[in-house]
Amino acid sequence: MTVARAGLAIRVVSLYPDVMGVYADRGNMIALVARCLRSGIGCQVTAIGIGDRLPAEADLVLIGGGQDREQRRIAGELAGRGALLREWAEQGAAMLAVCGGFQLFGRSYRTAAGDELPGVGIFDAVTVAPGPGWQRCIGDVLARAEIEGVGEVVGFENHGGRTYLGPRARPFAQVLYGYGNNGDDGAEGALAGAAIGTYLHGSVLPKNPALTDHLLRAALRHRYGDGGAELLALDDPYAERAHRAAAAVARQRGRARAAVRW
Ligand code: GLN
Repeated sequence: MTVARAGLAIRVVSLYPDVMGVYADRGNMIALVARCLRSGIGCQVTAIGIGDRLPAEADLVLIGGGQDREQRRIAGELAGRGALLREWAEQGAAMLAVCGGFQLFGRSYRTAAGDELPGVGIFDAVTVAPGPGWQRCIGDVLARAEIEGVGEVVGFENHGGRTYLGPRARPFAQVLYGYGNNGDDGAEGALAGAAIGTYLHGSVLPKNPALTDHLLRAALRHRYGDGGAELLALDDPYAERAHRAAAAVARQRGRARAAVRW
């Protein structure tokens, strides 16, 4: 194992990992830490539970998915911290918000029961769950990321909420297989600066090493300036193989975008 170089470290904030973490989303943290270790970069992780205060600074923020019930538990508190989270995003901190976390990083989420949950507002996006009786968006996803160098991303989605991006948001990726944000417009997730929202579980980072590296580079740049991104050592054949295998499965089993009919 490489020893962390001269105290270099990124500061990672993991929001509500004990509440928001369906479909192995905590694997995202494990992948980030493993990737840092390979590069000899430290990873200081602060896990925030309900009622905990946020630290003063962060280079990378993670939040996973959760069902409506879990989202209801944290939405008010999270929205109350919106000013600091938006400030971090504006200053270029990297962020990854998955599924239920992505929905709450938008403007608002109306649950299947009709409750209006406030969002953090990092993404210009609103999410509405059409309610009981409506088909959920479930299955393997393959999408082409709109971030240079990231290429195709693969994962698994399971959500009732349909997300619609406003004029100030752009999609994270374009759906090739699967539903994405709403099954209609081909958009998957959202981008705002170095913040990424996505419906991809899986967990997403272990099988998308290019995305993991993109987030780590953004976090390093945030902490150490432009040269920081150079600190990352790239070479992880196992993760590359996991990506290729998962992508092949999605092509085989995923629902071709053109076949989505509500
Ligand atoms: N509760 C949300 C929905 O069903 C998010 C689900 C999830 O995070 N998997 O739309």
